[in-house]
Amino acid sequence: MNAELSRQNGGGEQYDLAIVGAGILGLAHAWRAAERGLRVLVLERRSFGSGASIRNFGMIWPVGQTQAGLWSTAMQSRGLWLELAQKAGIPIHECGSLHLAFRDDEWAVLEEFQAKQGEAFGTALISPGQVHKKTPAANDDGLIGALWSGSEVRVNPRVAVAAVPSFLIDGFDVKFEFSTTVIRVGDGQLEAADGRRWRAKHTIVCSGADFANLFPQTHRQAGLYNCKLQMLRTAQQTKFQIGPHLAGGLTLRHYEAFRSCEALPALCDRVAKETPELDQYGIHVMASQTDEGEVVLGDSHHYGDEIEPFDLAEVESLMLRELHKIIRLPDWTIQQRWHGYYAKSDKKPIVMEQPQPGVTIVNGVGGAGMTLSMGVGEEVINRLLGDKTLGAKLGEMASVG
Ligand SMILES: Cc1cc2nc3c(=O)[nH]c(=O)nc-3n(C[C@H](O)[C@H](O)[C@H](O)COP(=O)(O)OP(=O)(O)OC[C@H]3O[C@@H](n4cnc5c(N)ncnc54)[C@H](O)[C@@H]3O)c2cc1C
Repeated sequence: MNAELSRQNGGGEQYDLAIVGAGILGLAHAWRAAERGLRVLVLERRSFGSGASIRNFGMIWPVGQTQAGLWSTAMQSRGLWLELAQKAGIPIHECGSLHLAFRDDEWAVLEEFQAKQGEAFGTALISPGQVHKKTPAANDDGLIGALWSGSEVRVNPRVAVAAVPSFLIDGFDVKFEFSTTVIRVGDGQLEAADGRRWRAKHTIVCSGADFANLFPQTHRQAGLYNCKLQMLRTAQQTKFQIGPHLAGGLTLRHYEAFRSCEALPALCDRVAKETPELDQYGIHVMASQTDEGEVVLGDSHHYGDEIEPFDLAEVESLMLRELHKIIRLPDWTIQQRWHGYYAKSDKKPIVMEQPQPGVTIVNGVGGAGMTLSMGVGEEVINRLLGDKTLGAKLGEMASVG
């Protein structure tokens, strides 16, 4: 339907569910809704989802979550990722992860974590010899041991975000409108910047770091702010597989899972005294590998008003300095550099708001959006279909689970 016609008739095609944003969160909602029989429309401002979701490590990382928090959502998400990958033909690997310890205070945190949570998480402390059986990439020099977790999974985000729309179009007749900026949502209608309109019984807004454009007040009240991360990718490593995702002691400062360890403040104090520049740029280091052999390396964290559009060479040097301490690669040639933004809330682990009837905002998944996306999508769709009025409104085809 052309824009003029759409304007004249006060709205074009009718959908059960419209989704704003074709990042991984929008795609997860689209898949879970389409599987339940809903007629779904996805609107994306770019020619493809090119936000945080294609810029990440591709780590599905349940070990970063807490049991009292989002670990079960992460594990559910992990299962759904495996299902989606199999159905959509996306390469996926149950690679697991290693937190490598080189300092006594890092090992102390890992020992405490293992004693308190090891059984529930299915993790294990392993010796340097065992580490080398899992990865050839761990640096021998000063390695005390590692925390092994088998839950982590690897996908190439660039492949996944491109493959899911085709899978949804072919398998479920989901309608995608790319290069379409939504400027208004309400009263069962969506309007694009070029005047086209659509009708939907419900709309889910997954606008990621662009949260200031639709429902800015609701997003602001939910405590959302942006975080910028710098990333690197090496040349293809020839015949060298790092195996599991790799992280070091600095990462223990970053994820919720380790926050309750009494040994953590000593580690944080030591890092702050020895290497304050790492705190200044929010640096901790991790590595994952693509199927083609490139190793994705990162990252740094700049929040809110600190964010500048310019990437800092110093941040890159510091990340590489810290990475050299924990891993060895045959080829450290950096072939790609980029940055990404994700939205995070200082009030909630995930932002789910209803700014008006018929509209749900889902955002603020922070640095764990790849991990949590499928589980969150499942939960939100279940909730919408479980809501008596809405569930009935969304149509008879949908099965309430
Ligand atoms: C560098 C980096 C590394 C990360 N590593 C990991 C990792 O390894 N594991 C992990 O679990 N998480 C990781 N994350 C976090 C994860 O990538 C994000 O949480 C997740 O991608 C957020 O998904 P999203 O769909 O909300 O956002 P996005 O992917 O940013 O998608 C939002 C989409 O909405 C579109 N949009 C916005 N407004 C409109 C509008 N008005 N009209 C139409 N379209 C609109 C945008 O164009 C965009 O495509 C990382 C993040 C970054 C930046």
